Amino acid sequence: MKRPAPVSDPLSAPFWEAARNRRLEVQRCLNCRRYFLPAVAFCTACRSSELRYEAVSGEGRVHHYSEVRSGARQDFFERQMPYLIGAVELVEQDGLMLYTNFPEHRLEELKIGAPVEVFFEEIDERATIPQFRLKTRTAGSDR
Ligand SMILES: [Zn+2]
Repeated sequence: MKRPAPVSDPLSAPFWEAARNRRLEVQRCLNCRRYFLPAVAFCTACRSSELRYEAVSGEGRVHHYSEVRSGARQDFFERQMPYLIGAVELVEQDGLMLYTNFPEHRLEELKIGAPVEVFFEEIDERATIPQFRLKTRTAGSDR
């Protein structure tokens, strides 16, 4: 059973396009240089509408996480249980959160503040999603 693909919209389409090319890109204000995730129509800090996606390092720290053991609303996720969800605070900016999964880990392996890195999981030829894993692991090939 295949994982449901993300649904993009005009604001998020560049994020998913970059992910298909195994790059993590985040929208950034060209005026004040603030990053936004999810993307915004205009900068909420300086009101500029000059925003562009830029590559980021793909490194961050576990901000929070939780194990899903019940209540999955789609068959794919029902079969994945238990699985880990959470947020990674990217190193580029305080409070810049990317909501994600930690598919390579078990609950007892994660810790708040642990350094993590992005990797890319290809769902199909149209969709690839960024996922995160602990940095202490040997960097392997993208799955
Ligand atoms: Zn701005």
